[in-house]
Amino acid sequence: MASSSSPPPFTAQNPTAQGPGPGPAGALPAALSNLQISRGAAPPPGAPRGLTPQTAPPAFAARPAPPAAARPTFPGSPPAPPFVRAPTTASAGPPFGGSRPAAGSQQPAPPFGGPPGAVSQPAPPFGGPRGTVSQPPPPFGGPPAAASQAPPPFGGPAAAASQVPPPFGGPSAAASQAPPFGGPPGSVSQPPPFGGPPAVGSQPAPPLFGGPRPAFPGQPAAMAASSSQPMPPSFGAPQQSAPPFGGPPQFGAPRPGGQLPFAAQSAPVSQQPPFMAPPWANVPAFGPPSWQSQGAGSGAMQPPMRMPGIPGSMLPNTLGQGVPPPGTPTIPYSPHAGTQVSTPSKIDPNQIPRPMSEASVIIYETRQGGQATVPPAASSEFIVKDTGNCSPRLMRCTVNQIPCTGDLLTMSGMPLAVMVQPFSLPHPSEEPIQLVDFGEIGPIRCSRCKAYINPFMRFVDQGRHFICNLCGFSNDTPREYMCNLGPDGRRRDADDRPELCRGTVEFVATKEFLVRDPMPAVYFFLIDVSMNAIQTGATAAACSAISQAISDLPEGPRTMVGIATFDSAIHFYSLKRAQQQPLMLIVPDVQDVYTPLQTDLILPVSECRENLEQLLESIPNMFENNKVADSAFGAAMKAGFLAMKSTGGKLLVFQSVLPSLGVGSLSAREAEGRANITTGDKEAHKLLQPVDSTLKTMALEFAEYQVCVDVFLTTQSYVDIASISVVPHTTGGRVYYYYPFSALSDPAKLFNDLRWNISRPQGFEAVMRVRCSQGLQVQDYFGNFCKRVPTDIDLPAIDSDKTVMVTFKHDDKLQENLECGFQCALLYTTVYGQRRIRVINLSLSCTSMLSNLFRYADLETQFACFLKQASNGIPTSPLPRIREEATNTCINILQSYRKHCASVSSSGQLILPEALKLLPLYTLALVKSIGLRNDGRLDDRSYWMSLVSSISVVLAVPLVFPRLIPIHDLTSRADDDSLIPSPLMLNSENVLEDGVYLLENGEDGLIYVGNMVNPVTLEQIFGVSSLAALPIQLVLEQFDNELSRKVNEVVNEIRRQRCSYLRLRLCRRGEPSGDFFRSFLIEDKAPAGFSYVEFLVHVHRQIQSKMT
Ligand SMILES: [Zn+2]
Repeated sequence: MASSSSPPPFTAQNPTAQGPGPGPAGALPAALSNLQISRGAAPPPGAPRGLTPQTAPPAFAARPAPPAAARPTFPGSPPAPPFVRAPTTASAGPPFGGSRPAAGSQQPAPPFGGPPGAVSQPAPPFGGPRGTVSQPPPPFGGPPAAASQAPPPFGGPAAAASQVPPPFGGPSAAASQAPPFGGPPGSVSQPPPFGGPPAVGSQPAPPLFGGPRPAFPGQPAAMAASSSQPMPPSFGAPQQSAPPFGGPPQFGAPRPGGQLPFAAQSAPVSQQPPFMAPPWANVPAFGPPSWQSQGAGSGAMQPPMRMPGIPGSMLPNTLGQGVPPPGTPTIPYSPHAGTQVSTPSKIDPNQIPRPMSEASVIIYETRQGGQATVPPAASSEFIVKDTGNCSPRLMRCTVNQIPCTGDLLTMSGMPLAVMVQPFSLPHPSEEPIQLVDFGEIGPIRCSRCKAYINPFMRFVDQGRHFICNLCGFSNDTPREYMCNLGPDGRRRDADDRPELCRGTVEFVATKEFLVRDPMPAVYFFLIDVSMNAIQTGATAAACSAISQAISDLPEGPRTMVGIATFDSAIHFYSLKRAQQQPLMLIVPDVQDVYTPLQTDLILPVSECRENLEQLLESIPNMFENNKVADSAFGAAMKAGFLAMKSTGGKLLVFQSVLPSLGVGSLSAREAEGRANITTGDKEAHKLLQPVDSTLKTMALEFAEYQVCVDVFLTTQSYVDIASISVVPHTTGGRVYYYYPFSALSDPAKLFNDLRWNISRPQGFEAVMRVRCSQGLQVQDYFGNFCKRVPTDIDLPAIDSDKTVMVTFKHDDKLQENLECGFQCALLYTTVYGQRRIRVINLSLSCTSMLSNLFRYADLETQFACFLKQASNGIPTSPLPRIREEATNTCINILQSYRKHCASVSSSGQLILPEALKLLPLYTLALVKSIGLRNDGRLDDRSYWMSLVSSISVVLAVPLVFPRLIPIHDLTSRADDDSLIPSPLMLNSENVLEDGVYLLENGEDGLIYVGNMVNPVTLEQIFGVSSLAALPIQLVLEQFDNELSRKVNEVVNEIRRQRCSYLRLRLCRRGEPSGDFFRSFLIEDKAPAGFSYVEFLVHVHRQIQSKMT
């Protein structure tokens, strides 16, 4: 459009401005005589500041959109589509070296797996009329069970719009179907138990205000199948969810043709889905045996034994006179139960504590008999039934009984914190989170502390009042919410109201929660096109990834996109469909950045998709000969931000070199850093701090306007991640790191990372607050967010991978006979524009007995806490001190147990509480981790810290304590129960030179190939006949043999489990890669520290010296 090139305020146009530019376990020490595990417990300078409208150069402008199949391969991109290939289209020669399905030939895959329904309709954004756009992807996976409509995301808009009044403004047509309070609703039903059809038919809804109401957004199958009825809002409706990474539908059924997010790489023969059904596929959901009826952990919730002499009164100080741990010999489940195992006089390396993998799936009810139950280990496989407390996936505490006093907590040496992962992926067999709409009155809240109604608020006085479980205030029950109490003292409707019987619910937000209309889903892509980025293939990889991922953006009129490229200047593109070709608009000023005054820099994806794809295809060619080496990263981000300032959204930046120009430019601090580290300079850690506050200031502004930044670093050199990462850290995003970027092996990961980034469950413009019972107060929040007030954190975006740690401190005593409650409230906007409040409740017993703290300690949650605290300290303390602090934390906890709880007489014994018996091993792994060990690059350490910042509990341990899996003998395995063989202990005795091993930590997959591997094995796995022929840059292919198929299955299953496309690297003995691999063999003695046995001896000696 001609008008697009004349921005009013910038009168001085400079038409001469440039176009895109030319362009082994150690010896057994005698010191530790016994080990005991206590189970008891470029324009010219001065150029006028004006935007420079200009049409794209001929190379770009003249290029018509070629048919998908005919598109050229980008320079530097892999020759064949290595990933996400639908088996049946292997010969189609998809563009971009990838495998985007040809338009119309295939349906886009839904973000989490299964194909979309055949006749699905998009959800109306605001209860308005249904649009005409077809086939929105189902939100959290899988195909709609039996229905023809795709379920909305996060309990999506369709159902909400039809069953609840529109949250904003006028009534919708659908609203009349289901008045929130009043007449009989159109659909009165119980929610289907698993998001699918109700097992036993629909039941009447509870009466409310004289009439039934749609207590739940769910619908019976018959209604859901009706074309005029939406699906129930699904929060990961199990029947519809698939494994997160495009796995096949559960229960082993082959996946219908469709794009597989993390599919096998080139599967020439197999029609099989690249992901096998998960091992839990055939477990009857919610069926017996339950977690407790198995006896597992139930003992942990028996009434605590009275143990005189424990906190509150005198403490036993006599060695060996500690309080005996509560004996629970009948409880087979170890972590929370207890027996004592002692070994003879010396440490037997085969008897020291090591992780055991859980064999079977656990069915876990969050509460039983009016008490909290102890959650299964985060790393185990479990299916949660929410019976009052939230799923531990959403929130779990470092201890499962809360100490009554701060003194008791201090004495234990343990942290008191919860890890909140509000959008964590549910198990496919879990019931979806239910949506509750209170209509105009909004969710019921305590009038004093503003806590949301939850199962632990106690109704009294025939239901006329309710006592807040957090602050104790007695509230009047709103007239509309009255209900009589039953003989048990509970409201008669308690079991029918999710907010009164479920640990987690979502509320429809009323106007009081809105400061503006919910924002649209905006995605703005910024691509580095400087010389290095072009020449290394990074630009082509980014363009290819974006082009393929567009189909995974949430569909509908509210999804908008924009794009810009940058080197020493910033190039915007107008993508209006009416135009013959995208229009390039150049912003040359990289100090005082602005954005072209265009209305069409960001457009609904439906209006510009073709232009965008054409542009993405052209960009690598347009800048093919670019000689501009400078990269104005900060300025480009700022300009992108300005373009999306009015809406907010996601800014996805693809950066390949150290930002060298304009606002926020950086310098190479690495050389300096290395020198400092080798000379032992105590100031070396300062290089892990941001160089200055420029980017932080920028990030704070981004956050204020709800812009979340993700940075994809595809680089060959130091880029100062310590400085760059501040932006994602503050805005709810993350850093992705591909170093050294390989145009051969990294594009697959780049695409899959991007795809997961935009398709995983997520919300925008979020505010989160955690409340807790009186007696405790929130101490601090840790994670990727922006904090402006002490009580809340702002998250421009939050997704299923992000975890926030919240620490607490006592400000009073807690009463032992009462429970201590935690409530996380997350106000956010769904990708479809619904404003929601997700409320996550956890209520735990209080205890005044130290032994209970040890008994109910949650090892993995505590370790995640230690990991984050250690990482947090890195920029401000020398590494040796961080390592010492981590070790001391472990020692203090064990010493407390030894001193106060253990019932052992010999001081020569190291006594480990059962629940924390792996703490020394994990502490040793932490001390040897990339973040804490001396060697390594600055950027590697900074990246590690950025990962840790928002890492979940379930990924925290593997990050430092990886899995080691032999893959050379997968075909000879007898135990076919699990796809992945039992991991080996992490010591070099287990790594043989005639084997091939995969070591994975959720981020990297190191494949170690021994020097004496059978050539047949090499041929089968790698397609080469000798070690010498192994490629340096690994692209794991699938060949036509069983071993290759199994290796791919294992890798894909790990990707699914970790929600991460591993970066695979080959490692060989005698090469740096082999040394890197061996540095993860935690049990070995290494330059980075003790062997495991030595470490146990060290810990024991420290404890002994503290005891005397
Ligand atoms: Zn209250």
